[in-house]
Amino acid sequence: MSYTPSAPDLKTELADRIRSHRKNRDNGGRYFSPHVKVREEAGRFTAAGEAEVTVEALVSFSTKYVYDNPGSHDEHRIAVGAVAKCHGNGCVAPDFEKNHAGHWLLEDDADKTAESSLPLVQAAREWAQSHAEKCRAQPYTGR
Ligand SMILES: [Zn+2]
Repeated sequence: MSYTPSAPDLKTELADRIRSHRKNRDNGGRYFSPHVKVREEAGRFTAAGEAEVTVEALVSFSTKYVYDNPGSHDEHRIAVGAVAKCHGNGCVAPDFEKNHAGHWLLEDDADKTAESSLPLVQAAREWAQSHAEKCRAQPYTGR
């Protein structure tokens, strides 16, 4: 019997990445890195010229020192976005990117933070779909 894998649920994947980053920090992990950009595959299309068009959800972790004496502290922030990229050789407009203007905190509900990226991913998927329909750039073969 053949088995066709289906993509994992994106929101669940992103929420898990956020939770594991938070857990790492709370455990005082030696290798915890506060500034990390996580990419999660969110789509893959074949363009008219057979090049690949990929979609990724982005979750960026960062810290910002907040001056609010006497309780000044590092705020652990999360920004979300989505990118799409056409890998066609010579494609004239291969990039799409959409970022959320605001940010969330690592303490916030991970499901809600993950969910806020979904409309951006949807926009990137729509761009990828329509780009794929008309792009005739071919994949680079190295020859
Ligand atoms: Zn293209």
